[in-house]
Amino acid sequence: MQKKDINWGELGFGYQVTEARYVSEYKDGSWDEGRITEDANIVLNECAGVLQYAQTVFEGLKAYTTEDGRIVCFRPDLNAARLVDSCRRLEIPPFPEDRFVEAVVETVKANAAYVPPYGSGATLYIRPYIFGTNPVIGVKPADEYQFRIFVTPVGPYFKGGVKPIVIRVSDVDRAAPHGTGDIKAGLNYAMSLHNIVDAHAKGFDENMYLDPATRTKVEETGGANFIFVSADGQTLITPKSGSILPSITRRSLMYVAEHYLGMKVEHREVLFSELDNFSECGLCGTAAVISPVGKINDHGREICFPSGMEDMGPVTRKLYETLTGIQMGHIEAPEGWIKEIL
Ligand SMILES: *Cc1c(COP(=O)(O)O)cnc(C)c1O
Repeated sequence: MQKKDINWGELGFGYQVTEARYVSEYKDGSWDEGRITEDANIVLNECAGVLQYAQTVFEGLKAYTTEDGRIVCFRPDLNAARLVDSCRRLEIPPFPEDRFVEAVVETVKANAAYVPPYGSGATLYIRPYIFGTNPVIGVKPADEYQFRIFVTPVGPYFKGGVKPIVIRVSDVDRAAPHGTGDIKAGLNYAMSLHNIVDAHAKGFDENMYLDPATRTKVEETGGANFIFVSADGQTLITPKSGSILPSITRRSLMYVAEHYLGMKVEHREVLFSELDNFSECGLCGTAAVISPVGKINDHGREICFPSGMEDMGPVTRKLYETLTGIQMGHIEAPEGWIKEIL
């Protein structure tokens, strides 16, 4: 297979159209058999459920070329299961989990020429999503849906090396208790856009959301979970709350910390007042794997992590290198984590 003539090293994190995408339609109570199509555009009625009442959910994962030239993706079964959870919450008929994984494999195969080569730092980002398509004007779930997957090659998240970021404590809340914070839905992102634009305008990279009920506990950012390292470097601590999106990267890092690095792992409520005790802080998600956080600004008071503003802290780096090593195939993966595509 001839790779596309793309300058892989220069790619950013943006959308680039490729030749093939997957589509399956839901009608009369069932999903059709699905197919690959070349048409990147979708024609919808003006009153489609997704356009009027935001009935849509999505996923995000990546395919990689390993050192020995295979194309693989990372734990797609967890994306399949999470998409089902998201669907249930928004009254969308779930797409079957086994078919989800098959559809990811089929879509990546059809776009193999766009999977960046090993060592380029770039990866193939995979975006599955479902949305209500038929006209809905009275408030109710749609009767017809599309499940789609497109892919786009993306560059290394941090060009020219990883630099710790600066985040601020947000005055706006992300997700109500017992709300929709734990599902992957566009509605959770629409509300975050104003706040992230404002954060950037004021010189911050991200917003740290606290629990809306008490504003004393750490939740997450707009699109990534937090990880913290204890002062002695022995424990990985991650916030637990019913309104945090269950990140697959975070769950994988907890496993890596315990089983590869011999650390203790705590998944529990994390008080904002505890942050001064931690030695390292990071954001985790599929896009960047881990972004180290150097500083948190709480209305002018700065919490500066001992790992500083120059580089990832030592524990964060070990976690990052181990997990990316597993993904790229040069560290042995736990059973079932790597799905072979080609
Ligand atoms: C997607 C997402 C994450 C990261 O999840 P991964 O499965 O690790 O990519 C974290 N928080 C939110 C709100 C998200 O939408």
